[in-house]
Amino acid sequence: MIPAAFEYARASSVDEAAKLLNKFGEDAKVLAGGHSLIPLMRLRLAQPTALVDINNIKDLDHIKEDGHKLRIGALVRHVTIQNSAVVKDKLPLLAEVAGEVGDNQVRNMGTMGGVIAHADAAGDYPTLALMLDAEIVTNQRTIPARQFFKDLFTTALGPEEIVTEVVFPVANGPHKYIKFRRRLFDWAIVGVAAQKINGDWRIGLTNVGPTPVRATAVEDALKKGVKPEEAAQHASDGLDPAGDLRASPEYKKHLASGPSSRQKASRQRRGPAAQPGHVSLSSNRDCRHSHGCMASPVVGRTL
Ligand SMILES: Cc1cc2nc3c(=O)[nH]c(=O)nc-3n(C[C@H](O)[C@H](O)[C@H](O)COP(=O)(O)OP(=O)(O)OC[C@H]3O[C@@H](n4cnc5c(N)ncnc54)[C@H](O)[C@@H]3O)c2cc1C
Repeated sequence: MIPAAFEYARASSVDEAAKLLNKFGEDAKVLAGGHSLIPLMRLRLAQPTALVDINNIKDLDHIKEDGHKLRIGALVRHVTIQNSAVVKDKLPLLAEVAGEVGDNQVRNMGTMGGVIAHADAAGDYPTLALMLDAEIVTNQRTIPARQFFKDLFTTALGPEEIVTEVVFPVANGPHKYIKFRRRLFDWAIVGVAAQKINGDWRIGLTNVGPTPVRATAVEDALKKGVKPEEAAQHASDGLDPAGDLRASPEYKKHLASGPSSRQKASRQRRGPAAQPGHVSLSSNRDCRHSHGCMASPVVGRTL
């Protein structure tokens, strides 16, 4: 379908973009990679009266190590994050997750700021931002990730607020992101992220609620020394996921505790050396046949 008519302006600085948003009014939208916004406009699920294109703002296209922090500019494309030597060194989990976002075309165009601002429940970066206590920096303020994601497609951003960068802590210890999906390049049915940082595990879940979820019950159990496969039983504590086109609520809850089941199976196969500090999970993640996925337990698929 063809989108409804809209005005278009290209900004060359964040200040100019903010002024343009102010001029066009609250129905104007920022245009970054366009890989969420344009499809919605074509379906007329979004009908902004104006688009403010930020793709020419060079200041938003940076990856910087800053002490114990990693600053990712809002316009940095997924493919750049995936291939960045700095990201691979300082926060390899983020590089891995970037490589899991969509297909080549999506990764060539989609941006960090776009995923964060769009706040799709199945978006992959919001999970990392939440579980790692990242900060979302805008042209007006700095917002801790735990205060940023308010509801499905709803964030703390005001109408003239532009995400300029996302600041993650450096964390290059053991980590893993398991993305369960029906087909290669698909969105997550459920995603589970694990990162060891400052001696403790952080666990985040994608697409099990309207916003990303931090699995604090699992984190607490691991802190107390509970075995990973037992700690994983808490992954669905308090979850009430909505069913969607990809899975029922029950199946999502089942998947949420999947990675530890996989870990257990993996350990059984490889012996006791593979402890949580050496996370090495099978990456057999693509559920190509939904019935097969529903029928075969996660451990069975791993072995
Ligand atoms: C086929 C397909 C598969 C995909 N698979 C995945 C996937 O597996 N995982 C995943 O996470 N994503 C996936 N995506 C989404 C993709 O990552 C998008 O690029 C992303 O959601 C939006 O980023 P964008 O730069 O394209 O933003 P746009 O589409 O340009 O904008 C999205 C929204 O964010 C706002 N916005 C954008 N940038 C800013 C900013 N700097 N400040 C304030 N507001 C801003 C826009 O106004 C708009 O409301 C997929 C998309 C497609 C088309």
